[in-house]
Amino acid sequence: SRFTTAAAIELITPPVQIQYTKHLINGQFVDAASGKTFPTYDPRTGEVIAHVAEGDAEDINRAVAAARKAFDEGPWPKMSAYERSRILLRFADLVEKHSEELAALETWNNGKPYEQAAHAELPMLARLFYYYAGWADKIHGLTVPADGPYHVQTLHEPIGVAGQIIPWNFPLLMFAWKVGPALACGNTIVLKTAEQTPLTALYVAKLFQEAGLPPGVLNIVSGYGPTAGAALASHMDVDKIAFTGSTDTGKIILELAAKSNLKPVTLELGGKSPFIICEDADIDKAVELAHFALFFNQGQCCCAGSRTFVHERVYDEFLEKAKARALKRTVGDPFKKGVEQGPQIDSEQFQKPTVFSNVQDDMLIAQDEIFGPVQSILKFKELDEVVRRANSTRYGLAAGVFTRSVDTANTLTRALRAGTVWVNCFDVFDAAIPFGGYKMSGIGREKGIYSLHNYLQVKAVVTPLKNAAW
Ligand code: NAD
Repeated sequence: SRFTTAAAIELITPPVQIQYTKHLINGQFVDAASGKTFPTYDPRTGEVIAHVAEGDAEDINRAVAAARKAFDEGPWPKMSAYERSRILLRFADLVEKHSEELAALETWNNGKPYEQAAHAELPMLARLFYYYAGWADKIHGLTVPADGPYHVQTLHEPIGVAGQIIPWNFPLLMFAWKVGPALACGNTIVLKTAEQTPLTALYVAKLFQEAGLPPGVLNIVSGYGPTAGAALASHMDVDKIAFTGSTDTGKIILELAAKSNLKPVTLELGGKSPFIICEDADIDKAVELAHFALFFNQGQCCCAGSRTFVHERVYDEFLEKAKARALKRTVGDPFKKGVEQGPQIDSEQFQKPTVFSNVQDDMLIAQDEIFGPVQSILKFKELDEVVRRANSTRYGLAAGVFTRSVDTANTLTRALRAGTVWVNCFDVFDAAIPFGGYKMSGIGREKGIYSLHNYLQVKAVVTPLKNAAW
């Protein structure tokens, strides 16, 4: 067991069956070309719960060929935008209908609390597709007032076959952030899930079929990074690659894209996000929020507030209360009501909840992403100083600020080099709010209107006006 103690815990039987374990290619669930499978686990026990088709370069070739055909020959990019929107809406309805089974499967394969999956993540999954369904028929170009006797317009066209590679910490939400905008823009997709969590994407892909998505538009391949993932990133027939995962792998993806066909790349990578608690903050609220900012999802969040900066005047009180709060955290079977924290995804990520005080900026725990329930608490005195220190990592994904002063909030939000700044809140996500990183936390933005640009080409069309003198 990966719980904090080896004490016998009576495990709750997940209320769902595993139905889909094969790749989805061209509308069919198929075995791997090699016939190979790999085990996927229940992180509560480390027991195998299913054997899943293991994709490699040949499966990626087949999936890309299906996506290519569905793009080049239609009907998807040629279908009316209204029809595409209707399919996305029907899919979102089906997600709502099946949200309990989906949440159970997500918890079973990932270990996150069922209540979190069911009441936060599944509603967000549906909302994201409702949101992008709304965009599908509102994507259009401009008429451009160019110099000279020309009629000039821009066409916003889908980019083609999108390759997408996602991680294990939010399998369904990462699926949504990638697939929603790509489909709304009329692209076709080959998506590779994380090897730790292949199950829920296959389930929702089946729901997409029920919603009327044509075969070949969304293809799902399960498998490992260096084989299936690398084959996708370096494929000559893939027009764009979007990746979420570690910074080290992001660099590999960029290199593979450059060495093959220079496909454009968007990356959502790691973070070491500061959470700044000013001297005027309500300490009890700050403790609770800083705790949530770090420990949410077993600490396995790219944007976790993993460097808690506390003003020296309130540092001692904060520290004592933060420790007490961490000790109170309920760790257990994620299917059990009231459990705040389930097991880590695998033995590599297995850590006990931990709080470190007196952390110095140059310590490894203050610089490297841990991706687990480890809270580092640092002391600061001046605003200028905390800005400099908060910005002094190679990351820039998110930041949090806790203060009652509008001036302090405005100063910090402008000075922090991060893609998201949460003021007096943390981890507030919405389909419309863009998300992405500065510096080595990534390239580009997902969600909101910004994500559409990742999946569109702009074509300028220039036509001389009748009787133009040229
Ligand atoms: P990882 O980079 O090893 O894996 C992520 C995905 O990339 C998986 O699907 C994996 O199979 C694939 N992959 C691995 N090696 C590859 C290769 N050589 N070529 C192609 N694909 C490859 O990441 P991980 O350690 O499993 O996940 C945790 C990391 O992801 C953390 O560092 C975290 O910060 C990051 N993450 C970032 C965000 C974000 O939005 N920025 C979200 C979630 C996770």
